[in-house]
Amino acid sequence: MAIPRFKIKKIFFTAIEVILLLVLFSCGDNISLNSPKGLVVIIKADDLGDTTPNWNRFMKMVVDKQINAGVGIIAKKVTKSGSITEIQRVSNILQDNKFPVIEFWNHGYDHSKINGVEEFMRTTDNFQFEHIQLAQNFFVQNLHFTAHTFSAPFNKTSKETLSVLSHFPEINVWMCYQKLETEYSKDWKDPNQKVIHLYDKHIILNVDYLYVHDFPADKIIDNYNEDKNKPYILIQIHPAGWTDEDFNEFDQLIHFYKDSNRAMFMTPYQYYQYLHKNLTPDD
Ligand SMILES: [Zn+2]
Repeated sequence: MAIPRFKIKKIFFTAIEVILLLVLFSCGDNISLNSPKGLVVIIKADDLGDTTPNWNRFMKMVVDKQINAGVGIIAKKVTKSGSITEIQRVSNILQDNKFPVIEFWNHGYDHSKINGVEEFMRTTDNFQFEHIQLAQNFFVQNLHFTAHTFSAPFNKTSKETLSVLSHFPEINVWMCYQKLETEYSKDWKDPNQKVIHLYDKHIILNVDYLYVHDFPADKIIDNYNEDKNKPYILIQIHPAGWTDEDFNEFDQLIHFYKDSNRAMFMTPYQYYQYLHKNLTPDD
């Protein structure tokens, strides 16, 4: 028996409706829940060892301009007591919500690259475990606080890194350049992709802008219309090598975001706590 044409049409449209509903519900855990008050900007400043005039200038700027940033420490390269004292002093500068203005995070133990082998790539799981542990110990024993965020030197990791990180329950945030680092499993949820629930103890943040030397802020400003639809963006920078011009560009970017309330700055772990509702959006 032939199916009447109108029936075929009906079946066809019903199928489309079902697909649309499925799409709606899969996004229905709406990721905009991950930034109810608009775009969150997270600064990832890499490679702090001993403090330098550039680092002091950068950290002072973050404090004076009343923004927030994450600064990645290479544990073995912090060798001077003056550097330790300064990092401790800065770590005690708090926002109104009691979170540090600058969050220092684990950027590996030695940032090594020996014969093309990076610290967290093509090294054994024992080696990687030891290096994360040594760096975590440095934070607790020398700096007197805990690192809750990790990101590997050179944005290079391997499947060993994924398994090793699971042994450090205090590390809740992993910052990755997901074009290069693909090992993270579904246990590490990216707030740009999935809703973060209170029981999710691991979030992964993807680098949107990666600047190894200079800091061309205009590229980020030009992209704002696209970025503003995301829950967060992550900007990776290296202030140790900045010139006056780069500091000026950073200043421009801060004003661009702050002057018209286009975005709010958070540190990586602060964003984790925000997603876990331990901070209200107005904090
Ligand atoms: Zn680095």
